[in-house]
Amino acid sequence: MPITLALVAHDRMKPALAAWAARHAAELAPHAIVSTATTGATIGAQCPDLPVRLVKSGPLGGDQQIGGMIAEGEVHALIFFPDPLAPQAHDVDVKALLRIALVYDIPAAFSPATADLLVAGGLLATQAPSAPG
Ligand code: PGA
Repeated sequence: MPITLALVAHDRMKPALAAWAARHAAELAPHAIVSTATTGATIGAQCPDLPVRLVKSGPLGGDQQIGGMIAEGEVHALIFFPDPLAPQAHDVDVKALLRIALVYDIPAAFSPATADLLVAGGLLATQAPSAPG
């Protein structure tokens, strides 16, 4: 079943997230994507065929918007690559987004390696796995 995924990355991690989206473009195609403004623009530049709905930039409230969508059941998975080596002016928003993803126990990945594992585990599968034979 198609899901809505939120894709967010801090500045130095945006290339890694755009590369992840390009690597999984075929699997992402049937699903809806929502992104913070600058992340979404970066993904759109690398994957022009992927429709990405934009919310505000993270520091301007975009992380909170995505958190609200998780709480409303409108976002079903979060791929978020934070920068582990740079302080963020909107750190409280970042923590709130992580917290709300945990509260609602949605599938979430915070690194390319783990995001790949979510895909390998069937996050983007559109058909139920066949019963073991
Ligand atoms: P951005 O926001 O995609 O607009 O840079 C992401 C963030 O910093 O949380």
